[in-house]
Amino acid sequence: MNLVFLGPPGAGKGTIAQKVMEKYSLPHISTGELFRKAISNGTPLGKEVESILAAGKLVTDDVTIEIVRQRLMESDTCDGFILDGFPRTIFQGEALLKLRPIDHVINFVLEEEEVVKRLSGRRIAKSSGRTYHLIYNPPQLEGIDDETGEPLVQRDDDKEEAILQRLKVYEQQTAPLIEFFRERSLLRDVDAKYSPDRVFKDVVRAIGLE
Ligand code: AMP
Repeated sequence: MNLVFLGPPGAGKGTIAQKVMEKYSLPHISTGELFRKAISNGTPLGKEVESILAAGKLVTDDVTIEIVRQRLMESDTCDGFILDGFPRTIFQGEALLKLRPIDHVINFVLEEEEVVKRLSGRRIAKSSGRTYHLIYNPPQLEGIDDETGEPLVQRDDDKEEAILQRLKVYEQQTAPLIEFFRERSLLRDVDAKYSPDRVFKDVVRAIGLE
C-alpha cells in the first residue's frame, strides 16, 4: 500500500508513520529525516540544504523530487511505503503521481495553536529520528531516548522563529495539496488532536487495514 501523510509540521505524521511501519512493515520515508541525515553526515547534499532547514524554508523541488525518486527505487518499497513530509508543493504532488500510484493520502488536521505547542515541546533522538514530547509523549527517563539511551535534542527548526516560518510555508505552499488530492479522491481526513494511539487507530481505519 502506497501512502502519503500530509499535514502541518507537528501534527504527528512522523509518530504515526513509525507505528504504521512497525505494525505493517511499510518503510517510513521522511524527506526531512533524509535531509537531517545528510546534514549530520556532512554530505554535499547536507551542505546544500543545511541553512534552508534551519530557516524553516523549503528545499527546492528538483533536489527533493530527486532524493525521493532514488529512495523509491530501493527494493524495500516494492510492496508499499509511507511518505512523510513529501509532497509539500503542488509541483512535487504532480511529480509523485508520475513516479508511483498512491492509494491514500492521510490529511492530519490540527489547528495552529496546537501545532505551536507540540513543536516547541518536541525532542528527538538524532540517530533514529524518533520523536518525543516533553508533556504529551515523554521518554521513560527525562531527556534520554528509550531505546539507545542517547540524550534527546531539540531540532533547530523547532525553535520559535523557525516554527512561525514553517507554518507560513505550510499554509502557502503545502495546504493547496489538500484540494489537489481531494479532487483525485485520495484524501482521508483524520483529526490529529487526539493521543497517538487514537490517531493511529483512526488512520488504520481510514486506509481500510482494520
Ligand atoms: P520535516 O521533518 O518534515 O518537518 O522537514 C524538515 C525540513 O526539511 C522542512 O522544514 C524543509 O526545510 C525540508 N523538507 C522536508 N521535506 C521537504 C519537501 N518535501 N520539500 C521541500 N523541503 C522539505
